Amino acid sequence: MTHEHTPIYITTPLYYVNDELHIGHATTTIYADALARFWRACGRPVLFLTGSDEHGQKIYKAAQEKGTDPKSFADNIVSKFYELWERLDITYDVFIRTTDSFHERAVQELFRRARDLGFVYKGVFKSLYCVGCETYKTEKDLLNGRCPDHPNLKLEQLEEENWFFKLSAFTDKLTQLLNDGSGRVLPPSRANEILGKLREGLSDVSISRTKFDWGVRMPGDEAHVIWVWFDALINYISALGWPDAPGLPTRDLEGRSRHDAPTPAGFAPFPHWWPHSVHLVGKEILWHHSVVWWSMLMGAGLEPPCRVFAHAWWTVEGQKMSKTIGNVIRPLDYVEKYGRDALRYYVLKAGPSKEDADWRQADFIARYNADLANGLGNLVNRALNMLHKYFEGRVPAETSFADASLEGARQGLITLAQGLEKKLLERMSAFDMGDALEAIWEIVRKANQFVDESKPFKLAKDPARAKDLAAAMYAVCEICRLLGAAVEPFLPDTGARIREQLALKERSLLEGVGLTAMISKLEGQPRQSKQAAPQALLHESLRWGQLRGGHVIGTPAPLFARIETAAEDKK
Ligand SMILES: [Zn+2]
Repeated sequence: MTHEHTPIYITTPLYYVNDELHIGHATTTIYADALARFWRACGRPVLFLTGSDEHGQKIYKAAQEKGTDPKSFADNIVSKFYELWERLDITYDVFIRTTDSFHERAVQELFRRARDLGFVYKGVFKSLYCVGCETYKTEKDLLNGRCPDHPNLKLEQLEEENWFFKLSAFTDKLTQLLNDGSGRVLPPSRANEILGKLREGLSDVSISRTKFDWGVRMPGDEAHVIWVWFDALINYISALGWPDAPGLPTRDLEGRSRHDAPTPAGFAPFPHWWPHSVHLVGKEILWHHSVVWWSMLMGAGLEPPCRVFAHAWWTVEGQKMSKTIGNVIRPLDYVEKYGRDALRYYVLKAGPSKEDADWRQADFIARYNADLANGLGNLVNRALNMLHKYFEGRVPAETSFADASLEGARQGLITLAQGLEKKLLERMSAFDMGDALEAIWEIVRKANQFVDESKPFKLAKDPARAKDLAAAMYAVCEICRLLGAAVEPFLPDTGARIREQLALKERSLLEGVGLTAMISKLEGQPRQSKQAAPQALLHESLRWGQLRGGHVIGTPAPLFARIETAAEDKK
């Protein structure tokens, strides 16, 4: 697959600083992080961006109510974003804020270009406006004369001189882009929803306001502030230093990355990354990220993003998640109680990547116990304990069973393991995180079954079956190693702990037993350090037979403590 070597630029939306982040924001970000980690492990150059959207009337008013200025208000909320992403171990390369001065300059430049090309003009704007949505409303958006999402807020009646963007000019081009078979919007059902709306035609949109000044000034008309959506969307290119910065503008800003994407020498970030851009968004903002954003780019003479993936929503115990109902899921509650990998697992496995998903506490605990504690955790723990008991912690050399039926089971396990890479590549390419994990857990279940069938504890009592015992224990330890590498992009703590318990502390050690040794042998000389990869690639890690006979493992420790549901019910 050639795409394994092409760069990928993965983005989350910039989250609005009006409130603390909930499980919806964490879901998009965990999806993006799993994708970023997975493709990095495949050796693909990845740039992963997230950030904060800080302008607009809602922030201006909230800051006023708190008796502070909007920037200080935003600083405070943004510090909580940083904390959440750190606690979830989100490995973004760039955190952009719409109050960054380089971003504001890029916003102005984009509108200068769109105006020069005739897509931005001045006119009179009459509308209803919902402050809650930061969006203009037409009659057909309303329910009983109110915004359906904010029935307690009175809609504002606006009539003012505004700058407009000529969205109507792009209907045909957008339709063509969505129909060209390249899958720019995924899943396809959501692309069809957008196409349906495009058939109703597009109206030009107002893009400026004069009632407040917390935003980016319209170039050449300073009384106007650019409407928050039109400002925020531009982050995806301003973060790359568009139009012409030689490096990432956040490079020298403190605390703006938790991972450093290698920047190829001699490439400016915008032309390098933008053609490989993938926006991850919730379905409620797909319209903005397809129709509006693509038109803005084309209006300034730029290419639309390569792909937009819109996931669906969580409901909570069958209800819409809302502050009013009081059922908003706070990610940190789960991190504190069950650990971040438990939260990441539930989001990735059971989450709304394609269709709406229901967050149920009983389901969270059932999956945790079945898949993590009794599944992967139990497998690794009993494998490593048995190796200490029967082989003093020293991995036996790989061998086959004398018993034909057990040998068949061993071969079945190897075949399944060898098919994993292809399944992961296919499913991650399709943004199907849940099915990718399912492919890994198919092996977890099979491996536990293999231990039950081969019964090393019984083989150990019969000296005549020493070869079968070695065959079983090598296979089980090797499958634990392989599973540790496979889960690491999704559950980074678990992957690291499996590596540690197997005493494979450095990833490059893994590579050392496989590829590096092989190449050195072929070349008849020690491997050149300039060629040594800093980490073993997933491709190598997923190859059967990497664990050496004689390797001494570390100390086993349970990966996941079972949640006792009876105790849980009392809380
Ligand atoms: Zn509203």
